[in-house]
Amino acid sequence: MAAALLVTLYEYSPLFYIALVFVCFLVTSGLIMGWFGWDVPVILRNSEETESIVKVSQKQMRQVKNPFSLEIKNPETASASNGITLVSNCLEDCLLSCYWGCSVQKVHDALQKHAYSFRIKTPQSFEDAMCHEYLYCQQYCIKKTEEEEKHSLLPEEADTNDFGLVPRSRYPLVVLLTLADEDNREIYDIISMISIIHIPDASYRLSCRILYQYLLLAQGQFHDLKQLFMSASNNASSLSGSFSNERTEDHVLLEKAGLVETQSEVLEESSKDCIVCQNRAVNWVLLPCRHTCLCDECVKYFQQCPMCRQFVRESFPLCS
Ligand SMILES: [Zn+2]
Ligand SMILES: [Zn+2]
Repeated sequence: MAAALLVTLYEYSPLFYIALVFVCFLVTSGLIMGWFGWDVPVILRNSEETESIVKVSQKQMRQVKNPFSLEIKNPETASASNGITLVSNCLEDCLLSCYWGCSVQKVHDALQKHAYSFRIKTPQSFEDAMCHEYLYCQQYCIKKTEEEEKHSLLPEEADTNDFGLVPRSRYPLVVLLTLADEDNREIYDIISMISIIHIPDASYRLSCRILYQYLLLAQGQFHDLKQLFMSASNNASSLSGSFSNERTEDHVLLEKAGLVETQSEVLEESSKDCIVCQNRAVNWVLLPCRHTCLCDECVKYFQQCPMCRQFVRESFPLCS
């Protein structure tokens, strides 16, 4: 049909036929090269154009100093009957309080109270905020900038080493870190840290781990502290690069100041290479997946995380 029409057209006027074919050629090339600005899916585009298309919004970050640090030593050996060893390395003198068998509801109520007017600055205020709904409490003093190991165990008098089937009404262990010195509470934005820890018992064998960590601010907000996913050959940096996901819109980059030096050393000596170009140092954190795998150059070319293929909604640099 179309061929017959073209032949008739050519017989009628060869000049008009050639002009028509030429116009069609121009329009098609225009579409392919993107001259009209229409979003036609094509592969013939130069690198500068690709750069302008991939535009992931950059998250506004605020840097804060977190005086607290808490880790579990040998999590595989921890259990409700053997207890747990906690390692703390804080920037100031701190109080470490371990609350065994805390009511789930009361812990979250306490966080809500902190957000309103009742600030959790001391172990006493935390106990009041959760209406003393726990089985047993142990308290330790932590000296500043020293790595201290503390062993906590639920005593036999408590008569529980099983916290029941899931969903549970009690968390096995809630650890509160607060600043011991009153003057320090004026210096830091973060005044306490609450860590919710799972400990295996007879009815639930999942290995010991920190479930949630909340950083409580003097102004009443609290942040959910989350770890970044970085190269496995690089343990120190995965510790230092934590960020918190606030309940309100602005996010906060948390830097454990004590670890900054270790991080910069690692940057130079070990494989901190971008997974795409293998050449420059990794600097960008992709959200929401938290993979930290791209350098300053390569981040421009990705709308999806190269590790997990998740769409990148926002990103932020570790150092700008
Ligand atoms: Zn790169
Ligand atoms: Zn990812």
